[in-house]
This record gives sequence, structure tokens and C-alpha cells, in this order.
Amino acid sequence: MAHIVVIGAGPAGLAAAEALAAGGCAVTVVERMPTIGRKMLMAGRGGLNLTHSEPLDRFLTRYGAARRWLEPALRAFSPDDLRAWAAALGQPCFVGSSGRVFPRAMKASPLLRAWGARLAEQGVTILTRHDWTGWAGPRRVRVVSPRGERVLAADAVVLALGGASWARLGADGAWTGLLAGGGVALAPFRPANCGFRSNWSDTLRARFAGTPLRGIALTQEGGPTVRGEAVVTARGLEGGAVYALSAGLRDRIAADGQARVMLDLRPDMTEAALAERLARVRGRESLSNTLRKALRLPAVAVALLREGGAAPPRDAASLARLVKAVPVTLTAPDSLDRAISVAGGVREDAVDARFMLRAWPGVFVAGEMLDWEAPTGGYLLQACFATGRAAARGVLAWLQEGAKERYPS
Ligand SMILES: Cc1cc2nc3c(=O)[nH]c(=O)nc-3n(C[C@H](O)[C@H](O)[C@H](O)COP(=O)(O)OP(=O)(O)OC[C@H]3O[C@@H](n4cnc5c(N)ncnc54)[C@H](O)[C@@H]3O)c2cc1C
Repeated sequence: MAHIVVIGAGPAGLAAAEALAAGGCAVTVVERMPTIGRKMLMAGRGGLNLTHSEPLDRFLTRYGAARRWLEPALRAFSPDDLRAWAAALGQPCFVGSSGRVFPRAMKASPLLRAWGARLAEQGVTILTRHDWTGWAGPRRVRVVSPRGERVLAADAVVLALGGASWARLGADGAWTGLLAGGGVALAPFRPANCGFRSNWSDTLRARFAGTPLRGIALTQEGGPTVRGEAVVTARGLEGGAVYALSAGLRDRIAADGQARVMLDLRPDMTEAALAERLARVRGRESLSNTLRKALRLPAVAVALLREGGAAPPRDAASLARLVKAVPVTLTAPDSLDRAISVAGGVREDAVDARFMLRAWPGVFVAGEMLDWEAPTGGYLLQACFATGRAAARGVLAWLQEGAKERYPS
């Protein structure tokens, strides 16, 4: 029986372990944290958006250029397969109003518990508090636990070490040193699905940091518009609508040093309708009172109209125009560690179609450590599950070929 070591007990690593055990391998999962799936648990705080219900052809477009190499994996383990898999673990899903798919429990812990139990039944060994530190000779995996160093023999290895954000949950990107040292081509990490910095006034920062802007629409200047929610932070803006535009905003800032977004504070009303309502209320009322009475805009929205130095216009038509397009200049993405996910990592040309590293035959890679990005909406977890399974199929095929090459010492 082949013995496979999977490193990283996030969704990608656990999906690989499950498929490898089902394929008849003895599997050991190595995880540096005290428990499995820490980032998935954190995702569960937002309801655990597992995948999306849109048609597969549209779904695949969300991966942009990475569709080219992820598509076979995503077709082989599709959103429907993921939902059936969760249901089989006692976690049936529902489709939310936006088409996003969530387990009915709206959290990750029951799913992870059931998954852990199934892996145990399959005979998978999970070594927590074990940190992978490199190789100890051909087909020898070096790990460090609180009891000291250990060497695990493995016929093949699946690396599923995650990206480089939210390091406190386990994935800190430290693996890049080991892989780059072994000649694996890597793309630099960049934040994805991230917030952005803006030079807020002290007043806005002091009074409104942490305040949500609900039911807004956000437009990247010269780019797409999304409806949703944003949050004013002490540093700038974050939240679902910002994340949805974040890849384009990040790239614009990289090219031009800044990017502009327009906030539509009342996307449900036309500019003319807003102007008409404003004209009815204005008079001797203050700006705040006018906006509150006519448009039910909260104090944070009024403060945003005042940002940028110039006083907001007095006449109803100009004020309505501003409410529909409050300009905000973004100066930099927020820190990598605060991003929901990262772009960059193991490049497409560093792996073959089975997700095996060209530099290290017998070592396969899955999940967020691969160089792809996608918006929030369930696309991240779906690709981690799908590439985890694809890497496992790659291992099984490679073993069946009776491959003689060995990964490095
Ligand atoms: C706040 C938040 C909310 C999110 N919500 C969603 C959501 O609703 N839907 C969605 O699709 N995606 C969501 N994501 C993203 C999603 O959780 C990740 O993309 C996904 O968990 C990545 O899976 P992975 O298995 O590749 O890596 P991870 O889940 O990061 O797992 C990697 C594992 O490898 C371990 N590891 C790293 N280095 C070593 C080492 N040297 N030795 C041993 N172990 C090591 C880590 O401890 C970790 O457990 C969210 C992310 C965050 C931060």
C-alpha cells in the first residue's frame, strides 16, 4: 500500500486526503495548528459560503485567466458535487438570494466534525501541531512537533499549505522559501478580496470607523459596478462590494498609484427622483437634516459627502448627482494579512496537468497556494476542494505509472 503524506489540513488538504484514502492509500495529514480547518472555521462566521449556484459555464469565468488550468478540476468536482458531498456529511445546503450556497447550519464546525470522523473511519491519520520543515532525504518528509523532529516516509506528498493571509489561522506563506529554494517558480503574493486605504479626514476616522454602508452601489472609475455593502474603517474601505472590485482596484493602484471609486448612496432611486425629494425638503434645514429627511441617509453618508474638502453643493440637482456618485480615492490595498485570500503562489508553469511540481516529481500542490484568484461567492472554497481532489487523482495516476523519479533530498 502506498503511503502518502498530505501537508496542511485546510479544505484542499483534507479533500486530497479523503480521495487518496478512498483510492486505497495509507494517508497521514500533517497540520501545524492544534486543530484542522482553522480558516474554514473563520469562513463559517460569515455562514460558510461553500460554492455558488450559477450555471457552471458562468461559474468558470470567475477564475479569469486561471480558468485555463483549473477548469478540468472544477468540472471533475463541480459545485453540484460539493453540495452532494456536504449533504452526505449531514450538512445539506441552501441557495441564498444572491445565488450563493451555504450549509443550512450556516457554520463550518458541524461539517468539519463530520468530515474529521469520516477521515478517521477511512483510516487517515492526522498529526496536529506538526510543522513541515522540508525534506530529510529522498521520499522523506521532515516535520517538527512539540516533541521534537520526526521523519515520515512517503511515496508521494500533497502540499496544501494555504496562501499568506490571516497568518494566525496557520497559513503564513512561509513555505515560499522552501519551494523557491527547490527551483519551484512562484508568483509574488498580492492581496485578493481585500480592503483599501483612503486618506480619510480625522473627523471621519474618529466618528465613523467601523460603520457599515448598507445597500450601496460601488463603481470603479471607468470600470464595473457592484451593489452590496461596504464598511468605513479607520484605514479606508472594506466589505463585500469592495472585495468584489478588489482585483481591478489593486491592479489600477499598482499601475497609477491610486484608484477612484464612486459610491452611490441610494442606488434604488434615480438622480431625478432624488433631486425632486431634496427640492421638497430644502429651505432652512441643515445639510444633514435635509439628507436624513429627504433620503433617509445616515450620518456616515453625510460625512462622506463632506470628505474631499469642498462643501457639498446647495442646489438639489447637484446634491442629487453627488449622492449618486460620491468619489473616494483609494491609495493602497490593505495589508496582505487582512485579505480574505491571496493571488500569487505556485505558478501554472511550475506544475503539470496533474498538479505535480515539475521541479519535484512526486510532490503535488493544491488549494490557495496555487497562483489563482477569484472573487468571494464560494469560488475560493470550491477551487480548494476541487484542486485537492485533482491532486489526489494525480498522485494515484502517478503511482499507477510506477514512476521512478523521486522528490528531493
Ligand atoms: C475571514 C475569511 C472568510 C472566508 N470566507 C470564505 C467563504 O465564505 N467562502 C469561500 O469560498 N472562501 C472563503 N474564505 C477563503 C477560504 O477560507 C480559503 O481560500 C481556503 O480556506 C483555503 O484553503 P486551503 O486548504 O488552500 O488553505 P488553508 O485553509 O489556509 O489551509 C492550509 C493549512 O496548512 C497549514 N500549514 C501551513 N503551513 C504549514 C506547515 N509548514 N506545516 C504544517 N501545516 C501547515 C495551515 O495551518 C492550514 O491549516 C475566507 C477566508 C477568510 C480569511
